[in-house]
Amino acid sequence: MPVYKAEGIVLRRRTLREADRLVTLFTRERGKIAAVARGARKPTSRLGGRLEPLARVRALLAVGRTLDVITQVEVVAGAPRLRGDLQAWMHAVYAAELVDRSVGEREPLPDLFDLFARSLELLAAPAPASASVPITASGDAWPQLVVLRFALSLLGHLGYAPRLDACLACGRAVAASGWFSPALGGVLCGRCRTQDAGVLPASGLTLRAMDALAHTAEEDLPAFDLPAAQRAEAGHLVQRYLEERLEVRLRSPLVIASLGSPAL
Ligand SMILES: [Zn+2]
Repeated sequence: MPVYKAEGIVLRRRTLREADRLVTLFTRERGKIAAVARGARKPTSRLGGRLEPLARVRALLAVGRTLDVITQVEVVAGAPRLRGDLQAWMHAVYAAELVDRSVGEREPLPDLFDLFARSLELLAAPAPASASVPITASGDAWPQLVVLRFALSLLGHLGYAPRLDACLACGRAVAASGWFSPALGGVLCGRCRTQDAGVLPASGLTLRAMDALAHTAEEDLPAFDLPAAQRAEAGHLVQRYLEERLEVRLRSPLVIASLGSPAL
């Protein structure tokens, strides 16, 4: 059987037959792959312990007739780095769900992989406070900001970047308040809002902040000022737009929180 190496992040895993697991990996080289880890459910399995959700691994895979088989695994960054902080964990699970639901199998997206991997690292190690740089994104704001940026960038990588700086229909700049159309993928002004019956009201500040956040470099993220009310509004708009584009219902971090436990 031909074999190949891949570095990837475990998006999810599920039971396959009695002792095996079907593991979904998002790899840098080959995009999303579903592969079998034989015997991974046995307590003594070394493979199983290393293929935890959100772990970053280097794997050796054998090409199978229907599914590839994971034969060796080396952990690059384990999942426990995220589990210590429930907020960070829930937001990381959400980011993984977005990747899983939006990316087709075996479609290499190395830039998206790098962004996803970096976002998990940002969640695992919140920006340290510094005397010279005002850290506005602290506490719960940090995971929300990291994942909002990730979701907006993911939409861009998939060719679905929403238009947020001006009205989709007439090009008028966004005013103090505007409308967001999940169906049309962007902003409508007061005059053009009738083009979509499903528009959502949105403040101009939030829309401009979303536009800026999508293009904010990682090093500028700790100082990105997004007040709680705008964060909540942006989260709601992004969620509705993702669900429209991906045609799925997503478990938002808030929903996961209400279930009281990590969803994986
Ligand atoms: Zn307009």
